[in-house]
Amino acid sequence: MREKLVRFMQGRYGVDQLSRFMMIFGLIVLIIAAFFRRPAIVGNILYLIGLVIVVLGYVRAFSKNRAKRYAENQKYYQLTAGIRRRFGKEKYILEQRKDYRIFTCPQCKQKIRIPKGKGKIEISCPKCQTKFVKKA
Ligand SMILES: [Zn+2]
Repeated sequence: MREKLVRFMQGRYGVDQLSRFMMIFGLIVLIIAAFFRRPAIVGNILYLIGLVIVVLGYVRAFSKNRAKRYAENQKYYQLTAGIRRRFGKEKYILEQRKDYRIFTCPQCKQKIRIPKGKGKIEISCPKCQTKFVKKA
């Protein structure tokens, strides 16, 4: 059985980021579809869409046309670059929040990072030199 599976998977593309995204996204659509009662037609359409997305995700993983699947994944990467960068930035800001306070200059709106626990301090904007007092 194991041998058969290994032979079956030979030369096949395998799961990449796009396939994983399709499987998860399709599953989410299926779950939404399961909760969608009225109008029933919308739930049915959602169910069909979710199913198609999940199946296509698997079809990609079992595909033998590696070059084409690779190109699709690259395209997916390009298309989602902005979103991923944005999430990366949000994550960075969240991590910074633990140790720093972020203040906005009242004059030029420049964001200024001050280490936490400094008490009441006078901040001098590095961009426009405006001084303002904040508690960090
Ligand atoms: Zn400023």
